[in-house]
Amino acid sequence: QAKVSGKNRYHVFDIEEAAQVRGQLESVESLRLALERREFILHYQPKVNLRTGKVIGAEALVRWQHPQRGLLAPGQFLPLIEDHPLICDLGHWVIEAALQQMSDWREQGLHLPVSVNVAARQLQQSDFVARVLAAIARHPGLYPQDLQLEVLETSALEDLVGVSRTMVEGRGGGLVFALDDFGTGYSSLTYLKRLPVAQLKIDQSFVRDMLDDADDLAILDGVIGLAAAFRREVIAEGVESTEHGAVLLQLGCELAQGYGIARPMPAAELPRWVDQWNPPLEWQGLQMVSRE
Ligand code: C2E
Ligand code: MG
Ligand code: MG
Ligand code: MG
Repeated sequence: QAKVSGKNRYHVFDIEEAAQVRGQLESVESLRLALERREFILHYQPKVNLRTGKVIGAEALVRWQHPQRGLLAPGQFLPLIEDHPLICDLGHWVIEAALQQMSDWREQGLHLPVSVNVAARQLQQSDFVARVLAAIARHPGLYPQDLQLEVLETSALEDLVGVSRTMVEGRGGGLVFALDDFGTGYSSLTYLKRLPVAQLKIDQSFVRDMLDDADDLAILDGVIGLAAAFRREVIAEGVESTEHGAVLLQLGCELAQGYGIARPMPAAELPRWVDQWNPPLEWQGLQMVSRE
């Protein structure tokens, strides 16, 4: 364990040093300051049911409103702190901010479950579940099942015992977990049994290429079948077109998220988007394959 964290420390140091030389990435210290200065914001991407046309939730995605460089995507700064304790502080801020947003939307009459992404390091904190439940309890009217926690499949596989322990504890408290980027982790069928996740989120790479790659279509079909067999919900990410949605419906996957439905947007825009969204006519009347 000591060896691993030692290695990671050098890893972070190397990225940081190299980035400063290139002037590209920021430093861990600048991220810490950004958190203090409240420069992070959340954008929200809707999740919908393709068949019913209902908006079923939204995923909170962090951005850095950088004073000089503008709005930065998570890929531009998260890698720097993935192995650093600061990811836990940022992660907790994300949870607090998402809960506050959910409360605000409710006051406006919009009841929408929100999901947040949780880093592997957060799950390793022994008080993770207690802190999340305490944060939820500070919002009257919000319940643990209103907040979904997305965990990368690869994070779960790296520490199956630890992650499964946290998930069991969290589920006991009513929290809902999803496995994110599912299919990228060379998952075996048996480990799924040990993870009490309510939902599998199929990685966008399979969805993106399914229309012209028969292998990806087969993987998609397999994951959808797997989810049904294990009685887990399944949602597809990266739905960029109407055709993607149509094929997913025919494969038996009715939940989806992607640019073809909506891009992540500032919180203030979401209520209006929910009001005016209509599913494409092409999706109506598509027969779902029975997976019973
Ligand atoms: P993710 O959780 O898998 O989120 C989906 C990512 O795919 C988002 O990128 C989203 O904007 C993008 N996306 C959605 N639909 C489409 C589509 O149709 N086509 C394409 N090409 N992309 C689509 P984003 O916001 O840049 O986030 C990237 C990743 O950063 C996330 O992947 C997640 O793993 C991580 N992340 C974001 N916010 C947080 C956070 O608060 N905490 C942690 N630990 N990780 C976060
Ligand atoms: Mg996610
Ligand atoms: Mg994903
Ligand atoms: Mg991803």
